[in-house]
Amino acid sequence: MKALKELTRPNIWELKPYSSARDEYKGVEASVFLDANENPYNTPFNRYPDPLQRDLKEMIAPIKRVKPESIFLGNGSDEAIDLVFRAFCEPDKDNVVAIDPTYGMYQVCADVNNVEYRKVLLNEDFQFSADEILTATDEHTKLIFLCSPNNPTGNELLRSEIEKVLNSFEGLVVLDEAYIDFSDKPSFLSELDKHPNLIVLQTFSKAGGCAAIRLGMAFASRDIIDILNKIKYPYNVNQLTQQQAMQVLKKYDQVEAWVKKLIGERSYLIEAFTALPCVEKIYPTDANFFLTKVTDAKSIYNYLVGKGIIVRNRSSIALCKDCLRITVGTRQENDQLIEALQQYK
Ligand SMILES: *Cc1c(COP(=O)(O)O)cnc(C)c1O
Repeated sequence: MKALKELTRPNIWELKPYSSARDEYKGVEASVFLDANENPYNTPFNRYPDPLQRDLKEMIAPIKRVKPESIFLGNGSDEAIDLVFRAFCEPDKDNVVAIDPTYGMYQVCADVNNVEYRKVLLNEDFQFSADEILTATDEHTKLIFLCSPNNPTGNELLRSEIEKVLNSFEGLVVLDEAYIDFSDKPSFLSELDKHPNLIVLQTFSKAGGCAAIRLGMAFASRDIIDILNKIKYPYNVNQLTQQQAMQVLKKYDQVEAWVKKLIGERSYLIEAFTALPCVEKIYPTDANFFLTKVTDAKSIYNYLVGKGIIVRNRSSIALCKDCLRITVGTRQENDQLIEALQQYK
């Protein structure tokens, strides 16, 4: 890996961050807070939240088996995706490389930040070749985006290829593990110490059942996390979100129970889909959704909308012609979907 200073935009490297009242006073003994122009009434909502979300990170750290200094928390993992562009990619000069198809936000953030986005097509098994990805890079490539399990394909990327990219690429590798809880393979979080160029993204939005509160996590070396913290909005994760996240973490066995149940429902749905005449193929999945090739995606999508059932039509995406992406729901929801499709002609 190149030196982090070389990978970081010079203006960001030199940036002196905004220092909030809550940054400057960190003690806990004080009881009179006249430093932040807050209203003394309407507790507990009158106070600014902890800008570095220390209590929440203390709870996340043992569950994820990482140090609190290796955690960045943002307004969804989408915030972390945007921040890595703003921290490392010089507009109109640097570029990033990503697999295709994958999560659409990487390209949107690249476009917003005026950073060239280079796509490398997956093969027909939705796998990638590390060599092809590396060939697409040049001296201006700052980031490589990998997503495993991948969205919208559902499958995990080959571990050996991910490792090859981590070992060979001189820039940073963003590995999006939004769906890792649904996979039976281990997360790359345990490899953070081995790979100083690795940034792992996870989220409270999927297995955590908390899409509404907007809380995403990035895990990386302390030096990378410090850069993201330096450029984020001071109070980017609000107090209600921090509190709700701590509630969920207190009952983390609930999350594990949901995951187990959803994996069971996933098998149930896939078995039922196998028998449907309108289904041509079901792609292997390690996530809480699966991609399926159907006889006529547009017509089936519209038919389901008519029955009040919304799935995601991915037909326009590379390698996904006539494909629908189905999120695993409750047994009742899954049965409604199956019944509707059995009646489709
Ligand atoms: C859903 C999803 C996310 C989650 O984003 P949040 O902003 O945390 O809700 C991130 N990456 C991928 C690949 C996703 O599918």
